Amino acid sequence: MTLLDRFEASAQKIFDVHLHGTENPSAQVLALQKAGVYKAAISTSWSLQNSYRDFSNINFLHGLMFPCANGKVPYSLQTCFTGEEWPSVSWVEQQIKKKRIDYFGEILNQYYGISPSDSLLFPYYTLALKYNLPVGIHTGGAGPDHGSPNFRMEMGNPLLLKPLLSRFPKLKVWIMHSGDQYYQETISIMQENELVYTDISVISNPDIVPAERFSTIMKAFLDAGLEDRIMFGTDNGDILKVLNAVESLDFLSNAQKRKLYYQNAERFFSKSEKH
Ligand SMILES: [Zn+2]
Repeated sequence: MTLLDRFEASAQKIFDVHLHGTENPSAQVLALQKAGVYKAAISTSWSLQNSYRDFSNINFLHGLMFPCANGKVPYSLQTCFTGEEWPSVSWVEQQIKKKRIDYFGEILNQYYGISPSDSLLFPYYTLALKYNLPVGIHTGGAGPDHGSPNFRMEMGNPLLLKPLLSRFPKLKVWIMHSGDQYYQETISIMQENELVYTDISVISNPDIVPAERFSTIMKAFLDAGLEDRIMFGTDNGDILKVLNAVESLDFLSNAQKRKLYYQNAERFFSKSEKH
């Protein structure tokens, strides 16, 4: 039995909360669907974003990436939205009203060289609160060749969320990539703030992070009692490899896997779930 057969046979439901665009959305969508993905949160350049609005086999939630150094998406270097570094707040509100933005993220403050608690972001957090939208913030490090000249490693530390969380205590925030090398800081923030979630993208990708390290991080999250707030994400990694990494964690029960694969994300992204 191949890995794909195994996942098809188990009919595992997957909600991928961390996805970006590719040059071939149809092939990407097919591979995700085969692996059991029924819902995904996608953020990419605003023009590419639109090509994900017509798929019916996966329910896409649409994000908004910002701020964009030189108006570009990191790595792909496509134009983020209009070529500006920051989207205008009134335009963002219009898009929310037209139901074209379901969440803010990936927030690229680290690539832009500022803290997630920088006041430049406050007008957007205010908007997210007004419309009950989740906010996903990139944390940890970065791959090579991201093309963002002001990237600052230290701005990926989740402890920098503290001022933001005390100013916007009801905001639905998720720490993307579990903080990666700052995962202990992520745990401490999540223990102090019951509304903060996290996703396992990148740390679960064996092409980037060794399996033993992923296991160590996951064990730490579970030992800290956070199994209800960890969400599945691939960040465009090979989903079968990522699923295999999760399935290889022998300390995870089936109930915990279901929470990770979709139940936690369904609760977090629920429009009716108000904090
Ligand atoms: Zn990221």
